[in-house]
Amino acid sequence: MLASESCAFDLIHAEFIRELEPGEVVIIDEHGIRSEWPFPKSRSAFCIFEYVYFARPDSNLTGSNVSMARVEMGRELARSHPVEADIVVPVPDSGIFAALGYSEESGIPYYPAFVRNHYIGRTFIQPTQMIRDFNVRVKLNLIRSAIEGKRVVVVDDSIVRGTTARSRVVNLRENGAKEVHMRISCPPHKHACHYGIDFPDPEKLLANQCSLEQIREYLGADSIGYLDVPGMVRATGRQMNEFCLACFNGDYPVPFDAKFDKLVMEQRRDQARLLEPPAERLF
Ligand code: SF4
Repeated sequence: MLASESCAFDLIHAEFIRELEPGEVVIIDEHGIRSEWPFPKSRSAFCIFEYVYFARPDSNLTGSNVSMARVEMGRELARSHPVEADIVVPVPDSGIFAALGYSEESGIPYYPAFVRNHYIGRTFIQPTQMIRDFNVRVKLNLIRSAIEGKRVVVVDDSIVRGTTARSRVVNLRENGAKEVHMRISCPPHKHACHYGIDFPDPEKLLANQCSLEQIREYLGADSIGYLDVPGMVRATGRQMNEFCLACFNGDYPVPFDAKFDKLVMEQRRDQARLLEPPAERLF
């Protein structure tokens, strides 16, 4: 069995043996199992956003559990961006563990006041703005009695376009929150991912276009605080040079060819479609 996340093995009671190395190709055929390294060895550049958002909390990455790293990110965030408040509210699902860490470290009570609609997918990877806007509205509902009249720290894992975060702040205020303090368990996303993660054009990344104060103003929050790169890395228990941090610091560990960039390919596909005869476009 091979899987992209260790939680898959728990489900079938499989014994975890080891993680594949960067660049390792495993071949399973009639001769058995063997590994090859067809590319020159280079330094590891693990996607740190796996710890922040992508991986399941019940998975382990290089021996450490993802949920624990997220709790630690929340603790780091509470130390670097403290605030006086009455309640810590997570944005489900990926903000849950960071909010727990923030609450534990700050001593502010945790309350999961957002209730998630599990029939809606991840909002930032939806293909159109219209679908994203609709999904943002129906994805979460608030327990009004839990937050009315309270100073709320709302903890989320990241802000990409800002659409979702802004809508959460509006939602909290509409439901009677006295103050809303936004805390984010990773640094601002300022750069594109050229390695396959479906972030939008950098011009649509909120932190690429706005200062911290402009972001706070756009979201309508009373304060905003992002975890910094050293804090995020510390929370994983690994070293800075083991990671890809490119979408945060613009330092791309592997050169990329801009002509194969996802955005460029999509534009070429759309242009090609416009040239097709209408009947063919139906298929
Ligand atoms: S740029 Fe690097 S860290 Fe950011 S999402 Fe892509 S692979 Fe992950």
